[in-house]
Amino acid sequence: MVDENNWPDRTVVVTGGARGQGAALAAKLVARGCRVVVGDVREDEGRALAERLGAQCEFVVLDVADPDSWQALKTVVARTGRLDGLVNNAGIFDPRPILDTDVALFQRHVAVNQLGTFLGLKFAAELADGADLSVVNISSISGLRGTGGAAYTSTKWAVRGMTKMAAAELAEHGIRVNSVHPGLIDTKMIEAIDPDRLARRTAQIPMQRRGSEDEVVDVVLFLLSPASRYVNGAEIAVDGGLSV
Ligand code: NAD
Repeated sequence: MVDENNWPDRTVVVTGGARGQGAALAAKLVARGCRVVVGDVREDEGRALAERLGAQCEFVVLDVADPDSWQALKTVVARTGRLDGLVNNAGIFDPRPILDTDVALFQRHVAVNQLGTFLGLKFAAELADGADLSVVNISSISGLRGTGGAAYTSTKWAVRGMTKMAAAELAEHGIRVNSVHPGLIDTKMIEAIDPDRLARRTAQIPMQRRGSEDEVVDVVLFLLSPASRYVNGAEIAVDGGLSV
């Protein structure tokens, strides 16, 4: 019988976990007894988080857009002897109209949000040993609708499509791949949205409020857990109904 609240000995990697939803996820995984490896470019915040969460949490400097960075992470994960979950959560968000989006801004989004997710999938596929491994890709409501600026939105649609491809291709390696699509969640990321626009968008949410980090984390935990063992290639919106 699987104890859904206690996952000792499991190792889960969370990218972009120094703050926001990734940090909230790391805390809940540690509370369940997991070993968590948090990778992020924010060194100070990442190290402070690992110190707060204790020995079960290790921070590693990781730029998800850099293949060498993933190689270094492999060495850290190899020390734990196993990989049970990967959450491709790292992301950047600079929502601008098309006329204000230059090539550099567009390519930066592609590098972090899209290529970063691809490199994560490759990392998981290389480390998979045929045992159950769950990958959760954090897309967005911007991967379901046309909102959030052309650069960000195209990468989040890409993450959604890549999830389907990976789910089909990697199942034979024992890997399940699913995507989560947060709506408006109260983290530092949404500070990039103009306050008037944010208020208007919040009023459009059928549940009439924005979401919390933990409300996304609980869905990610479900996808990492054995309770979702036959869920593969699914997309789950966590948006209070904003995308309906
Ligand atoms: P956040 O900005 O607090 O967290 C994002 C994290 O990603 C940060 O810690 C940042 O340092 C890290 N990161 C950025 N570039 C990186 C890189 N190259 N390598 C490694 N780490 C990098 O925002 P959040 O809300 O916690 O975002 C988490 C995920 O949720 C993102 O993928 C985001 O696109 C997605 N999302 C957020 C919302 C929202 O409303 N907050 C909505 C939809 C989707």
